[in-house]
Amino acid sequence: AESTTPAAPATNAALYEAARSVIPGGVNSPVRAFGSVGGDPVSMVRAAGPYLTDAEGREYVDLVCSWGPMLLGHNHPAVVDAVHRAVDAGLSFGTSTPDEYRLAELIAGRVPVERVRMVSTGTEATMTAIRLARGATERHLIVKFAGCYHGHSDGLLAAAGSGVATQSLPGSAGVTEAQAAETLVVDYNDRAALEEVFAARGSEIAAVITEAAPCNMGVVTPDPGFNRFLREITARHGALLIWDEVLTGFRASDTGYWGLSGRPEGWTPDLWTFGKVIGGGMPTAAVAGRAEVMDLLAPLGPVYQAGTLSGNPVAMAAGLATLQNATGEVYDTITRRSQQLEELLVGSLTEAGVDHSIQRAGTLFSVAFGTSANGVHDYAEAQAQETFRYAPFFHAMLQHGVYLPPSVFEAWFVSAAHGDAAMDRIAEALPHAARAAAAA
Ligand code: PMP
Repeated sequence: AESTTPAAPATNAALYEAARSVIPGGVNSPVRAFGSVGGDPVSMVRAAGPYLTDAEGREYVDLVCSWGPMLLGHNHPAVVDAVHRAVDAGLSFGTSTPDEYRLAELIAGRVPVERVRMVSTGTEATMTAIRLARGATERHLIVKFAGCYHGHSDGLLAAAGSGVATQSLPGSAGVTEAQAAETLVVDYNDRAALEEVFAARGSEIAAVITEAAPCNMGVVTPDPGFNRFLREITARHGALLIWDEVLTGFRASDTGYWGLSGRPEGWTPDLWTFGKVIGGGMPTAAVAGRAEVMDLLAPLGPVYQAGTLSGNPVAMAAGLATLQNATGEVYDTITRRSQQLEELLVGSLTEAGVDHSIQRAGTLFSVAFGTSANGVHDYAEAQAQETFRYAPFFHAMLQHGVYLPPSVFEAWFVSAAHGDAAMDRIAEALPHAARAAAAA
């Protein structure tokens, strides 16, 4: 009998082709393009636990986890349930809602912040933190580190790592010289350079902004005492320390990277930024900190900031359910799986004779090639690695059903849902990838 044949499932290539005709570069965020690894980006249609499924029905173990948010794994039942209930109650009210202060309280219960303002993206969070720092100090300069990424607001795109590093762009067109001139860029882990900058222009510096541990030039572990030094030098010169935990917050540990650095050393930053995990996969981020600084925000103070969808009830529900379920056990699991993953990776690379180093920040790590002698301590060293080994490595993993970040300048993310079956698949894929990297 004649049957109506359903339309053939779209291929990744066909989808990419279609996307490119209407979306610049076919992607809505540049790192999603396989710019540095080559080939067509993969279109995902479904996710569950540690797995992603693409448009062709292929399943991958996901080591990107939406670039961080999916701490509990994809479609965690408690998160999905909370989101469904929020959706049934209404998508957006444009008013205050009960969940937004609950999420703020949960955040303030984990790290020492007195006020939390919800925004929708990490970019907004850091942009607002910068404006707050300028408003609080009545100074104009910002110091950032080469290779640290803080989102794409104009003044923060100088030497911004990650997507920018991947594409080898010097910064960005469209940023005026005047804006760029207000951002002083210093090498990461370089205390002498920072002392010099403060000696020369200390009275003009509103803030130093840093990733709590850089994860956007690959992971770079702060040298022992470096973060404490940032706290000390900013305080000495009357500048604020902006501590960007958009990526590391509630992921590097239950209290973010601060729990591994600031808390043991007994200090706190002035302003913090969060994102990713606090939204559990929905668009939410936050700027937070001491009341004295945060209360400069409108409507209390003169520093303006706003957002139509800030504190969106569906996003708040996802964030709340994620943080409420991010128990000690979850962090133990992620820690164990991340260590297991590192051991498997190191074993395969060593077996294949690939020179490498692993940089780690709590549960986050990345690999760099040709760097075993010294590791990677700053942006110049990150860029000097044998980046050409990553493309064949990445594609071998993809072929064997493991989805890695499509750039060597990114951390690897695991979730609490990465169980034995997922780890076994990674273990099977890694030797192929390591041999491909060796042959490059
Ligand atoms: N800060 C850091 C440390 C980040 O890693 C990112 C995003 N990867 C951002 C800020 C910007 O966040 P968003 O992409 O949500 O704007």
